[in-house]
Amino acid sequence: MFKNKVVLITGSSQGIGRAIALKFASLEAEVALNDISSQEDNLKALKQEVEKKGGKARYFLADVSKLEEVERMVQQIQKDFGRLNVLVNNAGICKDKTLAKMTKEDWQKVIDIDLTGVFNCAKASLPLIIQNQGKIINMSSLVGQVGNFGQTNYAAAKAGIIGFTKSLAKELGRFKVTVNAIAPGFIETRLTENLPEGFKMQVKKITPLARFGKPEEIAELVAFLASEKADFITGTVININGGLTI
Ligand code: NAP
Repeated sequence: MFKNKVVLITGSSQGIGRAIALKFASLEAEVALNDISSQEDNLKALKQEVEKKGGKARYFLADVSKLEEVERMVQQIQKDFGRLNVLVNNAGICKDKTLAKMTKEDWQKVIDIDLTGVFNCAKASLPLIIQNQGKIINMSSLVGQVGNFGQTNYAAAKAGIIGFTKSLAKELGRFKVTVNAIAPGFIETRLTENLPEGFKMQVKKITPLARFGKPEEIAELVAFLASEKADFITGTVININGGLTI
């Protein structure tokens, strides 16, 4: 399905990004893995896992919040693979506190990585993506649509991604490039594992499908949006949350 296609997935050493990378590799894409330098061992292990299954992977250490590092990464991808067809803006962090306790640093860090990181990666990849009539998929969140207690910084970044996605979709339609966002609900990753048990139970109680999602389920949706089957879908935000927002 993705033979000869190169897919860059940011923040792909673990969690949802890792599942996305493995999904694309299973569909014969060549995968460009990315994370920050502290995750190098995880990236190396993932690269080996893809290669063991006969796939092609390389990893690139870059902090998505730093435009110069992202530009260097994209230049290296161009050198190593010769092209870039799909950009998955997945990297993200949270620093949860009520606004009363949130510092300017807590605010700025989340905006820099979760929102400016999306700008940086899209900006640096743009010429290659346009050249290949490619696809951009941005990881927003349920929280960007409905807000959440203690997450003003994260909610603002994830809501920003939705506006960014819709605007860029309007700009790039003429090049046959699609830009979409995904809004996951609660997914079983490190980001959610430390939530208080009582809170997790409460979320499951009000979720029609009565569970958290799996990273692999997000990966299925990303692969669909990146495929030719989704050529007429652009500027959308797709909820994947077990019905939590019904
Ligand atoms: P995760 O397991 O923490 O994975 C995120 C990855 O991004 C980590 O490896 C992280 O590295 C990396 N990262 C952090 N800062 C980075 C930077 N500056 N440059 C490059 N990579 C960086 O989180 P996840 O749950 O898989 O989440 C993936 C995406 O889905 C995020 O955008 C998140 O907001 C979104 N999302 C998740 C959920 C959920 O329930 N899990 C729900 C909605 C949306 P470090 O570990 O070293 O920080």
